[in-house]
Amino acid sequence: MVMDHALPETLSIRWPAESPQPPADTEAALARAAALLAAGRLVAIPTETVYGLAGLALDTAAVERIFIAKGRAATNPLILHVDGIAMARSLSSAWPDAAERIAAEFWPGPVTVVVPKAAHVPDAVTAGGPTVAIRCPDQRLTRLLISRLGQPLAAPSANRSLRLSPTTASHVLESLGAKVDLILDAGPCGHGIESTVVDCTLPTPVILRPGPLGAAALAVALGAAPLTATPAASADPSGSCRSPGQAARHYAPLTPLEVTPDGAARVRSLSHSGRRVGWLTTRSQENQTRQIAASPHVVVVPMPDDPIRFAALLYAVLHAVDKRSLDAIVVDEPPATEPWRAIRDRLARACAADTPGD
Ligand code: AMP
Ligand code: MG
Repeated sequence: MVMDHALPETLSIRWPAESPQPPADTEAALARAAALLAAGRLVAIPTETVYGLAGLALDTAAVERIFIAKGRAATNPLILHVDGIAMARSLSSAWPDAAERIAAEFWPGPVTVVVPKAAHVPDAVTAGGPTVAIRCPDQRLTRLLISRLGQPLAAPSANRSLRLSPTTASHVLESLGAKVDLILDAGPCGHGIESTVVDCTLPTPVILRPGPLGAAALAVALGAAPLTATPAASADPSGSCRSPGQAARHYAPLTPLEVTPDGAARVRSLSHSGRRVGWLTTRSQENQTRQIAASPHVVVVPMPDDPIRFAALLYAVLHAVDKRSLDAIVVDEPPATEPWRAIRDRLARACAADTPGD
């Protein structure tokens, strides 16, 4: 019997680095994904940042399906995924020097460039704006899929809007269920947080969203330091937002989350008042942490004190803690240094109060 609301197919893919071609089962998964996408359907694809919900970027109906599946505001534009610089250029009406430098140095990789859009890029993709965001993912199989299709994929994170991004296939399944037609499962994503987004249309490039690729590396490639937009500064003088996805609340678990300089004191106080707390801490080996961990009200989650490993685990840990039906999640405030910037950004958005209209 065929069920109307069956869960999506999930196909495991693997491609050993030493093989020039994918193994037969992965080749079959790729063909299935390409056929669904060519027919205007949606496929969750692995990337090195987070899983993406992909559809044909130049097909307005497919793009509209993405917005509906995510429950995403039509005002929040999508990132186009390409197989290389030539395809990126074909989607832009001008290819700024900054975009060329970033793409040449870091693609395939976790950085997105915002450039003037070509006329044939649908308005639905760019939320009616004159610019388009483009990146080339560091996932061989996803790039091959794009090459086979011969056209870009629009692929926002494969989660319901404003919720945690997925870093595994099961996160996609839990968040989107039958709203996606196929999930390609390549295991956990390497970086675990969303790409750095750089606006290359301005005289000095501006980091609209901090991410795995930091300002220092960008400065070397650009020959000058980029600016970093604060959420307030990313609104342009006309009042519309330069990076609409930078709404204050985003990337959030359902459980209320707080970031605090003294996690131990906060967790103790919450648990003394009978609240059940999850505590993400880099100080799990300290004596006072062990004492607090003995409380039946507290779930201690040890986190790495290295920002790269912290980012790779963050969403998976939040997904897992969110399932425990706790009253609160407390996270130790990360250091106020550049390598922690993207993590601080995601945590700040995860704990911001709901904003009207989101
Ligand atoms: P997501 O794909 O869900 O990770 O979100 C894409 C991010 O890129 C959001 O923050 C968008 O607002 C941002 N973005 C996409 N297109 C543009 C654009 N043309 N200009 C500025 N920001 C963009
Ligand atoms: Mg997203």
